[in-house]
Amino acid sequence: MIVGVPKENYPGERRVALTPVVVPMLAKAGLEVVIEAGAGERAGYPDAHYQEKGAKILADRGAVFAQSDIVVQVLCHGANDKTGASDLPLMRKGQVLVGFMRPLASAETVQQIAQSGVSAYAVELMPRTTRAQSMDALSAMASIAGYKAVVAVADELPRIFPMMTTAAGTITPSRILIIGVGVAGLQAIATAKRLGAVVSAYDVRPAVKEQVQSLGGRFVELPLETGDAQDGRGYAKAQDEAFYAKQRELLGKVIAESDAVITTAVVPGKKAPVLVTEGMVKGMAPGSVILDMAAERGGNCELTRAGEKVVAHGVTIVGPINLASSAPFHSSQVYARTLTSFLANLVKDGKVRLPESDDIIRETLLTQGGEVVNARAREALGLPALVAQ
Ligand code: NAD
Repeated sequence: MIVGVPKENYPGERRVALTPVVVPMLAKAGLEVVIEAGAGERAGYPDAHYQEKGAKILADRGAVFAQSDIVVQVLCHGANDKTGASDLPLMRKGQVLVGFMRPLASAETVQQIAQSGVSAYAVELMPRTTRAQSMDALSAMASIAGYKAVVAVADELPRIFPMMTTAAGTITPSRILIIGVGVAGLQAIATAKRLGAVVSAYDVRPAVKEQVQSLGGRFVELPLETGDAQDGRGYAKAQDEAFYAKQRELLGKVIAESDAVITTAVVPGKKAPVLVTEGMVKGMAPGSVILDMAAERGGNCELTRAGEKVVAHGVTIVGPINLASSAPFHSSQVYARTLTSFLANLVKDGKVRLPESDDIIRETLLTQGGEVVNARAREALGLPALVAQ
């Protein structure tokens, strides 16, 4: 079987779905690799490195789609909401597509993918089981994004992070607050600590308290009823507006005392909750920074504009999109490894295994035979449940 890698075409995207090092690993699983010329260049992987490992370079995108049984991308249509639709005419019935595709976000785009006839596997739907850990692309990207968020804040803040005692006096360390302690939040805590900041963190899931403390952070406890804050998969559950209003009221003081706030609070398939209002921004000292990692999902701060830097009331609010792409060498390296594990499990004896045979295959399969077949996605997208045959 042939696995094809088109060049990513989301504006500014620098990652590539497979790196040279995984080409021989895929060969062991019976998969040959073809790459669109220049696909890895922006991530630091020239064509020659792929060729050395046994991959074939194809001159144009159309040829990659035409020759591949399986197409792998970082941002497929759906996750690539700018240029992703241009791939739809290149896809064909029965072809396999694997990558990020925002399976819970838009019924329209998911149905377009289905109508192209491909069997699409959305990496966002990976189950959170021990066996699937090496295929968990979301976590792999979130770790890198968490690190880069702190580096961006350090760059933006008119302060330095560590305490410094010099002949010219003592500099007090910066106080950084992380709201939302998932994979990205944990990496942000670890990175900010390494740079010498005093780090506090808050999450609606009380289960993360120990993780925060083990990284040297202070866990902010708010007197809120959080009994049912976590779902069976370990994700946060959506709360009602009264809960979020109370949360904002309690968080206000902690935010006002922080030099920088990094927010990562999201709920799968939902718009991100607003946790920082304009009033709270006003309460921060001039020169403070908010970096909103939920910018693409609607933002945790009322003033966030996705992809932009806003200065309001003396506070800089950064709403980065696609942070993981800003470290494309390593993001591509880990993403390629998650895809390689996934493909090694998906293909057996030169055939794609049936979804019934494996929970990872079943849970990630989004579309097949022209239909959206994933029950979780159908529910989130407001499509009626499929009747079992
Ligand atoms: P995520 O990206 O879905 O959300 C980020 C964080 O925001 C979460 O910790 C969430 O609880 C938090 N959040 C949501 N609403 C909030 C609010 N109103 N206030 C404050 N915080 C709020 O999370 P994630 O990175 O996917 O991780 C979720 C959990 O799953 C973590 O505990 C992580 O360690 C775990 N996880 C397990 C596996 C596995 O077992 N294989 C893999 C990945 C993640």
